[in-house]
Order: sequence, then C-alpha cells, then structure tokens
Amino acid sequence: MRLGVVGTGYVGLVAGAGFADFGNEVICADADADKIARLRRGEIPIYEPGLEALVKKNVDKARLRFTATVSEAIAGVEAIFIAVGTPQAADGRADLSAVWSVAEAIGKEATGFTVVVTKSTVPVGTADRIRETIGRHARHDFAVASNPEFLKEGDAVNDFMKPDRVIVGADDERARQLLRRLYAPIVRTNDRLHVMDARSAELTKYAANAMLATRISFMNELANLAEKVGADIEKVRRGIGSDPRIGPKFLFAGTGFGGSCFPKDVKALQHTAREAGAPLGVVEAVDRANDAQKTVLAQKLLRHFGKLQGVRIAVWGISFKPETDDIREAPALALIDRLLEVGAAVNAYDPAAMDGARRRYGDRVGLVSDMYDALYQADALVLVTEWHDFRRPDFGRMKALLARPVVFDGRNIWDPEELRALGYTYYGIGRP
Ligand code: NAD
Repeated sequence: MRLGVVGTGYVGLVAGAGFADFGNEVICADADADKIARLRRGEIPIYEPGLEALVKKNVDKARLRFTATVSEAIAGVEAIFIAVGTPQAADGRADLSAVWSVAEAIGKEATGFTVVVTKSTVPVGTADRIRETIGRHARHDFAVASNPEFLKEGDAVNDFMKPDRVIVGADDERARQLLRRLYAPIVRTNDRLHVMDARSAELTKYAANAMLATRISFMNELANLAEKVGADIEKVRRGIGSDPRIGPKFLFAGTGFGGSCFPKDVKALQHTAREAGAPLGVVEAVDRANDAQKTVLAQKLLRHFGKLQGVRIAVWGISFKPETDDIREAPALALIDRLLEVGAAVNAYDPAAMDGARRRYGDRVGLVSDMYDALYQADALVLVTEWHDFRRPDFGRMKALLARPVVFDGRNIWDPEELRALGYTYYGIGRP
C-alpha cells in the first residue's frame, strides 16, 4: 500500500517506520524542516529504543521516505495518517489547529480516493469535523477513520509492532476494509482488532488514558495517607495488585504523572465532558491530585532542610519516565523550577534528556554528563525518574560524594532499610 503520514513525531515516526516494515511504501511529512533534514541524514530526532534500526532498515529498502512538503504525503497515496500534535489550549481543551490545517491540505491536494485516518488523540466528534473540512475543498471522494494510537514512549516500537489492541473507528466500509488489510500482519488473531464507530474510537483513547491516570492518582493519594497513618504503600500495592480484578500494573506511587499525553488528555476529556453536560468528577479529582503530587518532593525537601535557599540538590532523572528523552510536563521540571524559585542550587543528570534540559535551563542548573558528578557536594539527592542506571548505584561512592547522605527516592526504587544501614537518611513516597 502507498501511505502518507503527516506529523513525524513520536507517533508518526514510529507508525511510519512500522507500516513500512510490513512492506508498505510510506512517506512521512512534517512541518518542521529541520526535523526532516535530520531524518534524511539518518539521524533520529528522538530517543526511542529500537527506532533507529527500524527507520534505517526501511529507508535502506526504499520503503520509507521523509519530506518537509506536506502535499507530497497526500498526493497519490491510498491512506493518509494524521499524527500531528494536539497540545493543550489555554482553556484545557485540545488545540486542533494542526489537524484542521492538514485536513484542509488533504481536501486540496488529494489526487484520488483516499482514506484519511486520525492517529492523533482528538476529542469526540473530530472525525465528523475532519469530514466537513476536507469536504469543503475536496475534488475526489474520501473516507474518514479514527485509529487512535496506544504506544508507550520508551517501548513504542514494541507496542506498535505487537499491540494489545488496534482500535478502528469508521462508519465507511472502505476505510474499515483498508485498515483491516493494513493491520492484518500484526493482528493475526482478529480479536485484537476492534472495529467500531469513530466517536467510540475517539472516546476509547481518552478513556484509556484517564483510567491509567486514575490508578496513578489513586495510589499517590493513598501513599500520602499511608505516610500519615504509618503504613507502607509498597506493601499495600502488592496486597491489592495480586487481586486479578485490580492487577499489578500502574499502581506505583510516585511524584505524579507527566509526559505529552496524560496531563493534556485528562484536561481535554474534562473539557469534552463539561461541554456535553456530563462532568467527570472522578477525572477532575485525578487531575487535582496530580497537581498536588508534583509538589510533594519539594515539600519533603523543605521539611527536611527548614529552608532551601543556598542548599544544593542533586536530581537524578529529568525525562517524564525512563527510556525516553521526552521532558514534556515531567515531574522533574516542576521540582527543579520550584527549587530554583526558592534559591536552591540544582545539579541534574538524565541518561537521555540532557539536550531538552539544557534548552530549558541553560546554565541555571548544573547539568552533568555522569550521574555521580551530580552528587558532588550536594546536600541531598532526589531520584525523580526510575531509569535502570539508578536502580543499583554504588551507594558507598554516592555517600562519599554527597555533602550529606540524604536521599529522596521519588519512585520507591531503593530499600529504605539497606540505605539506613549504610548511614543514609532515606525518604520515599508513602513509606515509613
Ligand atoms: P510530537 O510533538 O512528537 O509530533 C508531532 C509532529 O507534528 C511534530 O513533529 C510537528 O512538527 C508536526 N506538525 C505539527 N503541525 C503540523 C502540520 N500542520 N503539518 C505537518 N506536521 C505538523 O507529538 P507526538 O507525541 O507524536 O503526538 C502526536 C499525537 O499522537 C498527539 O495527538 C498525541 O496526543 C498522540 N499520542 C501520543 C503518544 C505518545 O506517547 N507520544 C501516544 C499516543 C498518542
């Protein structure tokens, strides 16, 4: 199949390379000419395990191409995937301006019947509005479908190639047929392909993210309660996670969820719900709990030190989660911003997100290229993102480097007893 992908970010690049890998001919377009120039030079603009090899293989086989001219990904293709960003607008709703601009271009530039598929996360009803927008300009027949993406950054290639489920939302049988054919290689047992109407597909994506965010906020609030009543959230987590109705995943207390999806999607869903006259009280509470949780580490630091002015804090982990360089809405940023605001000095290290951190902080933060260098003469270490590199560090070496052996384990990855036995003052989340 000849396919176009518009928007070559985390989703568009993974999807484009993934589709090419099944033998399709894919052209990926992006408005960011610099990003496309890098991709053409063989550079991968994001850190995502396995992606570089997948892109290289398919570029070498001439199945995957990149262009900064969006019309090149529209003309002459059987299907166009819209994978542009849908960031949060000032009032909380999803900003769909990039989606409308692509839809308009499709209406004007399509050269024959085309299936237009939305991969971006978009509010319920967007497929209908895309149909109207294209229809205002179209000279050829077209069909619209919603195919929300569920990949996880950090494991995106695996998620794309071996999805738990593929959601296809389309009312037009031609779009359904095309997407069934396209996904056949990865959903060989058909029970993983869920075909439904476009509105249900659009809502499924928001519902999935809101449910996962709910589990996180629930555990974070419970962790705060555990601290007050002398319980250990880690034991509670294991205790409830072994119930198959609950399951063990997404029950980790921490410093709040971040990233480019959960925060904005939780807000956009609330907006949709309020507009529809069916407010989602649970989701609103999830959002509030998360805002509060992002301040928890700074509060713990303040309680320990009394005042933070002039205190030097080492931060390990800046990306919003391990195995990605994505720092959008990362809890580490909320912490570092607060520390700088109150006059603390910050050293920070992340295995992949240093470029993003440098762009944001410049020399306001001591950004170092070795995790241990961050500790030098710091009054405390705060672990914010649980990269593998931080799981079994050399605690003896750390103690020698730190001015004071104080650790704040924002992800509960270390054993409090072990650290206390080594002479550390240990603080976790929701544990004694
Ligand atoms: P991203 O910011 O990494 O990439 C979006 C790309 O679209 C950028 O490269 C940008 O330059 C390009 N773009 C913006 N406007 C354009 C236009 N008019 N024409 C051409 N290109 C344009 O975003 P992302 O993380 O890939 O997310 C894309 C969408 O997928 C969002 O709706 C997001 O919510 C959703 N999503 C993201 C993830 C994830 O883990 N990142 C997972 C599932 C769904």
